[in-house]
Amino acid sequence: MRRRQIVRGLSSGLLLFWGTPLRAFAQRIRVFASAQGWYMSDRIERTEAEWRQRLTAEQYRVARERGTEAAFSGTLWNNHAPGVYRCVGCELDLFHSETKFESGTGWPSFSAPIAEANVATEEDRSFFMRRTEVHCARCESHLGHVFSDGPPPTGKRYCINSVVLVFVAMD
Ligand SMILES: [Zn+2]
Repeated sequence: MRRRQIVRGLSSGLLLFWGTPLRAFAQRIRVFASAQGWYMSDRIERTEAEWRQRLTAEQYRVARERGTEAAFSGTLWNNHAPGVYRCVGCELDLFHSETKFESGTGWPSFSAPIAEANVATEEDRSFFMRRTEVHCARCESHLGHVFSDGPPPTGKRYCINSVVLVFVAMD
């Protein structure tokens, strides 16, 4: 709590001097600080060697290097079975089949995560685009991107790579 107040105080001080351009950056510091507070004991961190041992080359490329699998190449975009989709990096529950929908993109698409706290997002400006990157809140494995053209009630489209999901069927 104390650390958050200090960070907040510090960032407001910076804003007084440097104004708007730093606002987004200061906001990210605050979000990061509060996320640290939430997940401190729950966070999973592995060394690069451990990640390489745990993941296949393709899983590593997508989850740890923010790669993207080719559309329609994954095993889960056309999966309609009831169940839960877990993180390949730490087995955290991420999405439920109830929110999965046909987006026609060739990637598994969901209208919402299983719990808001289980996924985190970050602005992604790569490839001359402005997108919102989605990653696992526990181990920071990259999952995909979220867009605002999804179905109701959320209007969100979580476009996720099959290769970073582990599907667990449930009746
Ligand atoms: Zn994870």
